[in-house]
Amino acid sequence: MTDSNLAIAITLIGLLYLPIPIMAWSVLASTRTVSVVHWCVGGGLFGIGILLIGLRIYLPDWLSFAVANACVVLGNLLRIQALRLELKRPWRVSRWVMLFVGFMLVYEFFRLEVANQFFRFGWGFGILALCLGELARLSWQLSRVESSRSARWFSWVHWAVVVVIFVRVLLAGLGISRPSPVAADIDAMVTVVMVLLTTVLGNFAFVGIFAERSTAKEVVLAQEQAQQLEHSRWRGQIAQLDRQRSLGAMSASISHELNQPLAAILLDANMVQQGVASGKLTTPDLLENINAIEQNTLRASQIIQRIRNFIQPAPETYELVDLGALSVDVADLVASEARARQVKFSFSRDVPLARVMGDRIQLSQIILNLYRNAMQAMATVPQRDIAVEVRNEAANVVLRMTDSGVGFSLHVLEGMGTEFFTTKPEGLGVGIMISRTIAEQHGGTLTFANAPHGGAVATLCLPAAMAA
Ligand code: ADP
Repeated sequence: MTDSNLAIAITLIGLLYLPIPIMAWSVLASTRTVSVVHWCVGGGLFGIGILLIGLRIYLPDWLSFAVANACVVLGNLLRIQALRLELKRPWRVSRWVMLFVGFMLVYEFFRLEVANQFFRFGWGFGILALCLGELARLSWQLSRVESSRSARWFSWVHWAVVVVIFVRVLLAGLGISRPSPVAADIDAMVTVVMVLLTTVLGNFAFVGIFAERSTAKEVVLAQEQAQQLEHSRWRGQIAQLDRQRSLGAMSASISHELNQPLAAILLDANMVQQGVASGKLTTPDLLENINAIEQNTLRASQIIQRIRNFIQPAPETYELVDLGALSVDVADLVASEARARQVKFSFSRDVPLARVMGDRIQLSQIILNLYRNAMQAMATVPQRDIAVEVRNEAANVVLRMTDSGVGFSLHVLEGMGTEFFTTKPEGLGVGIMISRTIAEQHGGTLTFANAPHGGAVATLCLPAAMAA
């Protein structure tokens, strides 16, 4: 092969090389970061530089020496900056502009002033080797940080070409090889092919780093999703157990509550039986008794329905829920326990409807936990009041429950809501934790404070339905 044939080969390789950064640019379209921009622009400049060197015999010297080398070095500096950006250690612009200007001044000095072909060649190739070595070093670091196989490949290939260039400069220095990139000697050809192969492989490896990263991200995302699913299933099970436990603890008062309508039904049925047997039962009396039986049956079935709704595992269903009405409904659920503990409820609200978007059962669970904790905290005090206030505040619906119990010590305020924190001998310490999680899942908060005149204040704040 003659010198001009090698020049044509380099030109063709330069032409072939140019589409590669464009390909990397389009492949990385979805992850086009600043480093990708640096990499692709750098690759493009490198390709143009190679092309200008290949066309050396047709072009003026300033273009095929000065501009060509400027393109190659600037291209490499940009690619180094791309890897540095990936490593989060970018150079300041002034730094690589200085390096570039420094390279050009020395190169032009060797070319125009000293007019020494070996100095010029040695300087150009030496800096090329340094740049490729820096790329190899940075990609090695990247491979360690990200455990990236592509980055490791990138590094090995670049180290190999650094060795080849070093040998080539050495041979030229010893006069064994001609100091020209387009000399058609076997060592020159090996160098050229190696440099170009490296940059082509480098581009694939760079794209590979991003591909590996997005795969790794997907794996992490899938793991996180699985964990979240497991976590929410676990929380769901604890919530379910907490509901069952609450109702279990209230079973005595609930059965008492249920007993009342059942006893009334029995009484009315007996009266009808006796009235019919004695023949003294008038039709209006009969109708009145049947009506009473119907009403009490309805009440009993409502109590059972409420308990069943609350206790049975149900899929999460979001609907419009009026917090004011719900606070009264849940108080009904604990009515018999409240009576037994001599606790009085009072309700106030600023508007007829205070609606939020949420799961009725989960929101009931928060309120039930608040009521039960309040009732237990008032066990040792003579005055036992629970005041429930529902207000629309800004874009939120706020339910504030104040009790006249013992309130919170600093230790309790700090520990409340952490898993299994309890001050009760029979407590599990999951009620507040579950309630807080539910509030947060509904985009809201559950906070606690001491009331100014003693007792506790629990504040449930949820986005109002309109805003939600
Ligand atoms: P548990 O009721 O099983 O103890 P919780 O998570 O519901 O679990 O409550 C944790 C702790 O918070 C309780 O043990 C209690 O010390 C404190 N606490 C909760 N609500 C009140 C309240 N209204 N007044 C005083 N202390 C309260």
